[in-house]
Amino acid sequence: YSEEALEPHISAKTLQFHYGKHHKSYVEKANNLIKGTEFENQDMEDIIRKTHGDSGNTAIFNNTAQAWNHSFYWHCMKPNGGGKPAGEIAKRLKSDFGTFEKFVEEFRSAGATQFGSGWAWLVYMDGRLKVMNTLNADTPIAHGLKPLLTVDVWEHAYYLDYQNKRADFLDAFIKNLINWDFV
Ligand code: MN
Repeated sequence: YSEEALEPHISAKTLQFHYGKHHKSYVEKANNLIKGTEFENQDMEDIIRKTHGDSGNTAIFNNTAQAWNHSFYWHCMKPNGGGKPAGEIAKRLKSDFGTFEKFVEEFRSAGATQFGSGWAWLVYMDGRLKVMNTLNADTPIAHGLKPLLTVDVWEHAYYLDYQNKRADFLDAFIKNLINWDFV
């Protein structure tokens, strides 16, 4: 989708910086850092799993995980998205959270209570859906979990449009942006 596609919920200006500067920089740094190392021709998810918690490869982990998280995040949104899902995901949310509204409450809370920078997620884990949050670049991929949905709660994701009101950004994301077909 275009830079304007998610307006008024996420402005073109935010996407210009978030996709065009922040995400681009993670991709470029990751590519530069793996050059000439054992990771050079490895799959991103393998690099993330192998460098997680390895103090000698913190920069590779941070940049590769952030490159992965952002690519995934862009797919989690679409113009005129949000609202209630249908089909299998709707059934799973109901069986694992009780109601769709209960899932929304948990997901919103995971995003709102993440202290500092990070991500809120819906993941598939041990045969059920679960909400979690991660700090900075950390990602469910590093922990062997299957991500289904994420929202970026780093300030760069919402500050130009919402300033300090992260909860308002989360409400707009849930109501108007989630791409349930992708989830
Ligand atoms: Mn971001």
